Amino acid sequence: MQYKIEKNDISTLIDILASVYDLFGPVKTDGLTKLARIKSASNLDLESFNTDESAKDIFFPQYETIFNFKDGEIKNEFDKNRPIAIFGIRPCDAKSFLILNKAFNNGGVNDSYWNQRYTDAMIFAIGCNRPSQTCFCNWVNQGPFNKEGTDIFLIDLGDDFMVESCSSKGDDFLKNVSKITLQNPNPGDLDKVNQIKREAEILMSEKLDLAPLKSILDTQLLDSPLWNEISAKCLSCACCTYLCPTCHCFDIQDEKKPGTNQGSRVRMWDSCMFSLFTQEASGHNPRPTIASRMRQRIMHKFNYFVENFGEIACVGCGRCVRTCPVNLDIRGIIKRIKNEG
Ligand code: SF4
Ligand code: SF4
Repeated sequence: MQYKIEKNDISTLIDILASVYDLFGPVKTDGLTKLARIKSASNLDLESFNTDESAKDIFFPQYETIFNFKDGEIKNEFDKNRPIAIFGIRPCDAKSFLILNKAFNNGGVNDSYWNQRYTDAMIFAIGCNRPSQTCFCNWVNQGPFNKEGTDIFLIDLGDDFMVESCSSKGDDFLKNVSKITLQNPNPGDLDKVNQIKREAEILMSEKLDLAPLKSILDTQLLDSPLWNEISAKCLSCACCTYLCPTCHCFDIQDEKKPGTNQGSRVRMWDSCMFSLFTQEASGHNPRPTIASRMRQRIMHKFNYFVENFGEIACVGCGRCVRTCPVNLDIRGIIKRIKNEG
């Protein structure tokens, strides 16, 4: 069911959400738009395009304590006390949560740290009226108005937002929200939505069919010189994987206070682009070259994840395209691989 709400009502909506949830939204800081904790709509930035950093840090922090230990005793320090809500993320990031959720609940092993944050979270996403030149969500079976992974979906109509519930959590929320007037959209509003969607589609690059990619990667490219060519200018800086909403590799370390039996077990993001990622205690490194690490990054997203979970582990957000210091464009890599088929 679709409703229309006035933009003036957004601040009331944010107040309602902030009173119940640990609320995050896009905020401009130092020239970058990031997802940060918000208590009101005063610093909410819904005008900028997608956030520079992805939303994964909210459910899968870059660095977190798993537990503390002291003299053989373990104490779980998990700090969540209210459910999380995110207001104003884009469809690609909402979809990325579904991909990460598969990785964190896999083969009978459930990541309680991810689940405790993500499972009861409320996700409010906003469609992308003006996708950027670096967006390619249409290549990965999504689009600027894709609702997967969303509880409430909004479309900016100018003076109003179109609002739609996409889950039972979203239904309950809209049923019980009393301080905001939910209007029934008129035919003119629906025409406007269609027009906005058409204009957004024109801004997207032409769709590329990625279905053949898996079998090309499976059968032809393991030892191909192509990887040297593709990765020739890569610096192995890992910027692409840290900003990627679907990359989820992490490391676990024990940090002990010197001279005590006290410390913490922590986990932090790791990256397949780092040379130490696969280095073994013997010193042997099965992926010693940048080319072998680039192969792993591409294989994981477009081959292994498809094999294990039935979908590509890329949502086409374009962050890696925008931020790579040497302009290595994953779209070019994908096209190059497709040409090998
Ligand atoms: S951001 Fe660019 S240079 Fe850095 S690891 Fe990724 S592809 Fe290589
Ligand atoms: S690989 Fe690049 S485009 Fe794809 S989800 Fe990650 S950052 Fe976004």
